[in-house]
Amino acid sequence: MGVWHTHPQIIPEPSSIDWKDWYETLEVDKTGCEYVFFVIAGVKEIRVWVGDFKSKNIIEIFECAHSEGIYKVYEEKEYGRKKEQTEDTRVCET
Ligand SMILES: [Zn+2]
Repeated sequence: MGVWHTHPQIIPEPSSIDWKDWYETLEVDKTGCEYVFFVIAGVKEIRVWVGDFKSKNIIEIFECAHSEGIYKVYEEKEYGRKKEQTEDTRVCET
C-alpha cells in the first residue's frame, strides 16, 4: 500500500508538510503491512520513499534498471542499512 501525489517540480522534493504527513502515517495507519510507500511525481522524475512501521524510518528507494526493476535502497552508509524489497513487501503494495 502507499500514497502518492504530484509536485510541479522537475525533480520533486518532499515539503515539510509531506514529511509531517508521512511520519504521521507511520504513527496512525493500521494496515497490517510492514511498509508504506510514499510516491511524489514531478514533471520529469518520480521519487519513491518507503516507511517502516516498526522502526518509523523513512528512506528513499531507487529503481535498479539492471535488476529487473526491483527497488533497492540507494545509500547504504547514509541510511545505515541496505535492503532489497522482499516478496513480503510487494504484497503490501496492493
Ligand atoms: Zn508534496
